[in-house]
Amino acid sequence: MTDSNHKWVYLFTEGSGEMRDLLGGKGAGAAEMTRAGMPVPPGFTITTEACRAYYSGERGFPDGMWEQALEALKWVEERAGKKLGGRENPLLVSVRSGAKFSMPGMMDTVLNLGLNPDTLEGLKARTGDERFSLDAYRRFIQMFGRIVRGIDGDLFEEALSEAKREAGVKTDPELSPDHLRRLVTTYQEIYRQHTGEQFPEDPVEQMRQAIQAVFESWNTPRAITYRKQEKIPDDLGTAVNVQTMVFGNMGDSSGTGVAFTRNPINGVKELYGDYLANAQGEDVVAGIRETEPVSALKGHMPEVYQQFVDYAGQLERHYRDVQDLEFTIERGRLYMLQTRNAKRTGEAAVNIAVDMVGEDLITQPEAVARVEPRQIEQLLHPRVDDAHAKEPPIGKGVPASPGAAVGQAVFDADTAEEWGQQGRDVILVRVETNPNDVHGMVAARGILTSTGGTASHAALVARGMGRPCVVGASAIEVNVKEGWFRANGTRVEQGQEITVDGTSGNVFLGRVPTIAPEPSAKLLTLLGWADGIRRLEVWANADYPRDAIKARENGAQGIGLCRTEHMFMEEERLPIVQAMIMADTTEEREQHLSRLLPIQRSDFDGILEAMQGLPVVIRLIDPPLHEFLPNYEDLLVRITELKIKSPDDPELPQLEHVRSRVEQLREANPMLGLRGCRLSILFPEITRMQVRAIMEAACDLKQRGVDARPEIMIPLVGTLAELDAVKAELVPVARQVQEERGIEVDYKFGTMIEVPRAALTAGEIARSAEFFSFGTNDLTQTTFGYSRDDAEGKFIVRYLERKILPVNPFESIDRGGVGRLMELAVREGRAARPGLEVGICGEHGGDPDSIRLCHELGLDYVSCSPFRVPVARLAAAQAVVAEAGAGTK
Ligand code: PEP
Ligand code: MG
Repeated sequence: MTDSNHKWVYLFTEGSGEMRDLLGGKGAGAAEMTRAGMPVPPGFTITTEACRAYYSGERGFPDGMWEQALEALKWVEERAGKKLGGRENPLLVSVRSGAKFSMPGMMDTVLNLGLNPDTLEGLKARTGDERFSLDAYRRFIQMFGRIVRGIDGDLFEEALSEAKREAGVKTDPELSPDHLRRLVTTYQEIYRQHTGEQFPEDPVEQMRQAIQAVFESWNTPRAITYRKQEKIPDDLGTAVNVQTMVFGNMGDSSGTGVAFTRNPINGVKELYGDYLANAQGEDVVAGIRETEPVSALKGHMPEVYQQFVDYAGQLERHYRDVQDLEFTIERGRLYMLQTRNAKRTGEAAVNIAVDMVGEDLITQPEAVARVEPRQIEQLLHPRVDDAHAKEPPIGKGVPASPGAAVGQAVFDADTAEEWGQQGRDVILVRVETNPNDVHGMVAARGILTSTGGTASHAALVARGMGRPCVVGASAIEVNVKEGWFRANGTRVEQGQEITVDGTSGNVFLGRVPTIAPEPSAKLLTLLGWADGIRRLEVWANADYPRDAIKARENGAQGIGLCRTEHMFMEEERLPIVQAMIMADTTEEREQHLSRLLPIQRSDFDGILEAMQGLPVVIRLIDPPLHEFLPNYEDLLVRITELKIKSPDDPELPQLEHVRSRVEQLREANPMLGLRGCRLSILFPEITRMQVRAIMEAACDLKQRGVDARPEIMIPLVGTLAELDAVKAELVPVARQVQEERGIEVDYKFGTMIEVPRAALTAGEIARSAEFFSFGTNDLTQTTFGYSRDDAEGKFIVRYLERKILPVNPFESIDRGGVGRLMELAVREGRAARPGLEVGICGEHGGDPDSIRLCHELGLDYVSCSPFRVPVARLAAAQAVVAEAGAGTK
């Protein structure tokens, strides 16, 4: 885009809250507050579009952008009555990133921009505070050096510590102007050494470089990691806000804070946040200094507090959502710096949504749309069972993100990531976290820090990710370098197991038992609203009665997949299953099968009874038979050993026999081999036994007055002839059992749609299938030609990184390929058999985006794991709300 007339820059007075796409959250918020007449320091926003244009070309500002920024700067100067670079009354600005979706602390900010030796004099004269002015200058050099030129921040921190040591003082404010002046010189020297250039003195040049640095910060590894985690698209770009600085560090009548209009942890309606007197904003967010609760302001400056309370209420009513506010008080004058929709825990999200309906602020469908389905999962997280902890906690901190997490302590983000990738559960333990730790936080089960409050980086990010988190556990002494922490006399080494309880703030040594929480009344209310809105039914995948009971408690309306092979794998059954597979003749196989029959019958009896009155889809045996036998290589090793050590061992011939059978059954691509309905065709006696067990259980239950509704599902069908061949074996068994018992049961025979050919010929297959269930695990595998057991560990991660795949198709249905096959199968299946029942039982059944697709395709139900049922209920309702919203636009 090179049209220099294009509008790249908006003054705060020109924008509005609706312009988040273009102005980012921060810019739109500042504009909205300005429009509402609140005291917002004047400024302007460079659009996200400019950032996109920056990346689309050779990383240069698009034509006209810089000129517009300079124009806007003039306006700001007039409005503020100050001048950038002016000696008399210098204007200082902040240059901040601000994307459409908030990414706390992920991108860059430069404060106090505009200082140089000249303006420093002006600032001193205006404020009459030399110490303050010099401190602002050294902070600016430090931030600019670190952010714009990538100088290691520790170099500045070390110089600061050294200065304090020399001065014999402990805290920054104790440094005298002389010390600070020397520190400024040292900082300039660090800058020169690392860049080979003098620190830029021209404030306009400073601004140009800072704007470019903010654009660049959109694509730092930490920002990319965060976006991946939060599913924020990479191509949105960030806006840049240039705003007049106000100072919270001009003495005790100044200060800065962050506040939420409701408690973001539990949703209680109260002003909640942190305040730091005589400080700059960065100090609060970084969690370096001890803060006071924002309510303390009431005591210090009651009028300012009241004014802030009024603005907070006004903003919440305007946005009809909880706001996360940043403010600064400069010498008794309040300035509003930022308002955005607050990040919140699952518990808070539910409570706030339900409360706001009660307050007539939002409608029920809006409440349903407000809570992220993933957050519901967080709510159902286990919590620490304090009553059963063997030892008391070794420490306690601020509960910042709820849930219990158990894992091995690690002290740096890289190790957390590395161990996490090895499949180990880790807890990341730090003094504080900063944006460079995000990759470790993603990999960790939980997070523990010894400093920081509820608005610290660790707390904010952990809440957003749904990781249990405890911050500010001040009794804990962390030694990152040596890899240990000490808490109340107990030393914990890297790799030792600990439990953190983000609900209570407790930290325990070792693994503490956890309990599943009861859903709260408000959650039940919200889910009730969702049930009233959704069209899709929600069923569950469950193999055992206990899972079925759990599913039903969570609101499941049926079982969409009961995988029978898990029952074969159980310890006491496996030998019978193996003997059955080893059998040389059909008769011999049938003998073993007859021993399995009563066992299977009792399995089905349990699950059908647990789900009485509701459908239970039972899938006949699916995996290749060799999965039930010993591993071929292991067998060879054992046989070879025995041959050498004791060639006369009577076990040898038996082992040889097993080996030869395993060899017969071995396949190069077992997932594409003798499995699914192909087994039923080659060994019909196995599935005849299964159908007999299902029907006997159903008849017995019916006789006892229990309404059993089995739906028998045949896997991996690719042609109508296959399905018909299997049915020809099985339907007579079902009939026969009913005749034998003299009872009629409500049952169906249906098929999975999990290979592309089944989807493509769904019209034919529906002639014989009474229901369809999409097995999207296999359908994804066979549509892409990706081995699902290998792809995720091997190349999918790289594909995602390089954006060859937009999302992992095993997590979220690939709309363009798999989704189209599904659409065709639903359409042609229902054309052949009106009212055909169609569901999904692949892992995607619990994924909100896939649920939306299933809704759009007109499926009857989604089936997912029992604990995700509430998530799916909410997501199914959101699909309806989204559709309605899209229709009215
Ligand atoms: C599927 O393929 O989606 C499915 C549910 O079956 P399985 O994962 O057992 O192959
Ligand atoms: Mg399958």
